[in-house]
Amino acid sequence: MKSSRLLCALLAVLVLLCGCEKEPPPPEEPEEEESHIATLLAMDTVMKLTVYGPDGQTAADRASARIEELEALLSVTDEGSEIFAANHSEGAAVPVSSDTAALLRKALELCGASEGTLDVTVYPVVRAWGFTTGNYRVPETGELRELLDRVDYNRVSLEGGTLTLPAGTEIDLGAVAKGYAGDQVMASLKAQGVSSAIIELGGNVQALGSKPDGSPWRVAVHAPDGSGYAGVLEIRDQAVVTSGGYERYFEEDGETYWHIIDPATGYPAKSGLASVTVVSESGVEADALSTSLFVMGRERAAEYWRAHGGFQCILISEDGSVAVTEGLEDSFSLYGSWSGRPLEVIRSS
Ligand code: ADP
Ligand code: MG
Repeated sequence: MKSSRLLCALLAVLVLLCGCEKEPPPPEEPEEEESHIATLLAMDTVMKLTVYGPDGQTAADRASARIEELEALLSVTDEGSEIFAANHSEGAAVPVSSDTAALLRKALELCGASEGTLDVTVYPVVRAWGFTTGNYRVPETGELRELLDRVDYNRVSLEGGTLTLPAGTEIDLGAVAKGYAGDQVMASLKAQGVSSAIIELGGNVQALGSKPDGSPWRVAVHAPDGSGYAGVLEIRDQAVVTSGGYERYFEEDGETYWHIIDPATGYPAKSGLASVTVVSESGVEADALSTSLFVMGRERAAEYWRAHGGFQCILISEDGSVAVTEGLEDSFSLYGSWSGRPLEVIRSS
């Protein structure tokens, strides 16, 4: 990378030197596209931004600073964040930035469309299970019942830049923040003139345009049982977000408990699905949907897709069966040891 950057600098100097000559410059050599990488630890995960094009490094660094800015506003554990302030406001109104307001407004809309499977106020329950701290425990049913009384996104009041939570209500944007960050990175890169980039925000992958050579990006879908990759997906200008029980979990007395909670019960969602991968042009929608569809399970998820559309998904069940919605029929293929399995296609009618 360094040597090609040096080459570019030399070429630029040569172009400048030749600028006074009458002769037209020689036809441009098809330049090998340079990749520029920014890595960071944010939102509890490792992130990597790979940006192509001449000003790629500056663009990647600025986009990475944008993610850090968002994390500082949205973190549920950082005492300086706006979400932390709202969660500790004891019912008082708190001012929030346009980013927090925009994401929360979108998140509330997505909760409303989720048929009770996504709720940004489920945080007291998530915390009781120890998923925010790593001090895992199985709460008593009575404790969960009491905590569930505090869960209802309809109690969140957001007016302009003012957020009011009733005492006891707490927000966690963990199910949607990385998706929003992905959309913001895309916007930042586009505004800086980038047309080809791929970013990995933990399990969220999002692409700007195609590969520099015009071909689609190839994104691996992890096998939820840890056996490498289950499949490969080809995308352009889309987000690919996976939610799975295998991402964060603990075991006690032979039972596995994971970090995706069914707001109807307060227990980790056991719907028969092992992972859900959503493909959408919107990162925040893909993120919200991957969590909701995981809670819904295979049949409800398929019905939801038929009723709403606007996205495609890959549903991997705990029994190892794989289903994809029909929009992915040509762009998804099973991989490696998974390639012999039947692939069910979910059709719109
Ligand atoms: P990850 O962040 O690991 O990629 P998800 O996007 O599925 O996974 O989000 C899970 C996170 O969202 C949990 O760690 C928790 O903080 C929160 N959460 C869990 N269940 C729900 C739910 N039903 N609705 C909203 N947020 C949830
Ligand atoms: Mg999610």
